[in-house]
Amino acid sequence: MDIDSVERLIRPGLTGMRGYDPVEPIDVLQRELGRRIVKLDGNENPYLSSPRAREVLAQFPYYHIYPDPLQRSLRESLSAYTGFARQNIVSGNGSDELIDLVLRLFINEGDEVLNAPPTFGMYPFLVTVAGGRLVDVPRSSGFSLDMEGLRAGISPRTRLMFIASPNNPTGDVVSREQVCQLLDMGIIVVVDEAYFEFATGTVAGLIPDNPNLFILRTFSKWAGLAGLRVGYCLCHERLASLLLTVKQPYNVNVAGEAAAIASLQDIDHLRHNVEKLKRERERLTAGLARFPYLQPYPSEANFVLCRVDEKAGGEVTTARKLRDGLRARGILVRFYDSEGLRDCLRISAGLPEDTDCLLEAIGEVWNGL
Ligand SMILES: *Cc1c(COP(=O)(O)O)cnc(C)c1O
Repeated sequence: MDIDSVERLIRPGLTGMRGYDPVEPIDVLQRELGRRIVKLDGNENPYLSSPRAREVLAQFPYYHIYPDPLQRSLRESLSAYTGFARQNIVSGNGSDELIDLVLRLFINEGDEVLNAPPTFGMYPFLVTVAGGRLVDVPRSSGFSLDMEGLRAGISPRTRLMFIASPNNPTGDVVSREQVCQLLDMGIIVVVDEAYFEFATGTVAGLIPDNPNLFILRTFSKWAGLAGLRVGYCLCHERLASLLLTVKQPYNVNVAGEAAAIASLQDIDHLRHNVEKLKRERERLTAGLARFPYLQPYPSEANFVLCRVDEKAGGEVTTARKLRDGLRARGILVRFYDSEGLRDCLRISAGLPEDTDCLLEAIGEVWNGL
C-alpha cells in the first residue's frame, strides 16, 4: 500500500485539521534570547508547586507501580476539598482530558457542539478530533453570552455546550441564571471552572438538580501543577461512574496523583499564593489602564485581557507588534490571531517584579513603534 492510499483511510475531517496552538517551551526560547524570561503567556503559577508536593514527589517510593484506575485516594481528597461525594468526582490527565472524555460520551460523527468564542481553543480542537461539528455563537462586544443566539443555535443534532467561567481569555464569569437557562434548553452543559480558585463563585451547586451539568476544574493554575496534568470533573454519580469506566485506566499518573493529594494538604500555602496572584491581577489591571492606548478588561482569573489601540496601521496589528517587541525583551504574553481578538493581548498575573518589568517595557516598545 502506498501512503496516499493509507491517508484515504483516515477519518474525514482529521487530515486537513489545524492543530492546537501551543505556547512555546521556555527552555528553547531562553536559549534563543539568552536572558531571563518573564513568562506571562501560559497562566501558569509563578509561585511553583507547593513545597509539600515537591517533597512528596522527591520521596515517593512507588514510581514502578501502576496508578489506581479508580483514583480512590485522590477522589477522597477531592471530596473533602469540594464538598462533593467521591461518587460525583472523576480525575483526568489535566482537565483537557476530561473535555475529551465528555465529548466521547455524547458526540457521534456530525453531532453539534455550541461554542461561544472568544473562548478556550481546546474546545474547537477536541470537538474536531471527536468528529463533532462546532457551532459558533460569538459573544457580544463586551463578551457576554448571546443567550438568544445560543437558543437559536440549537438544532436536533445539538448535544452539548462548553462555557469557561471565568472565561479564557476574557476573564469574565457566566451568571447562575444564564447557566440555568442553558440547562433548561435540554443540552449537556459543561462549565469549565479552570480558574475557580481565583474567582468569586461556582455553579457546582446546580449539579444535584441538573444531571446535564458537568463542572471541570484543574490543579494546573492555582496549585502550580500544570506540568503534572491533574484535573477533575464534578457531575451526577451515574455519569461519573461511566466516565471512570470509559477512561484510560491509568490516565492520572502516580506523580500527578501524589502531588495533587499533597497540594490539598498544603492548602494554606497555596491559598496564600492565590491571594498574592489576585492582588497582582488587580495591580496589573490598574497599571495597564494607566496607558491611554490600552484597555484592560476586568478579570476573575489569573490573567488580564487587554485591548490595544491601533497606532501605525498596516497589515500587522499593533497588538501583535507589541507582543513581538515584548518578546524581544524576554517578556512573553499571549496574542491571538483570531476573530475579535486581533487587537488584544492576554497577560498572566506574575510576580510583582514581572508586572514592573512588563509595564516598563510596554511604554518603551510602544514609543518605538
Ligand atoms: C488552562 C485551562 C484548562 C486546562 O487545564 P489542564 O488541567 O491543564 O488541562 C482548561 N480550561 C480552561 C478554560 C483553561 O484556561
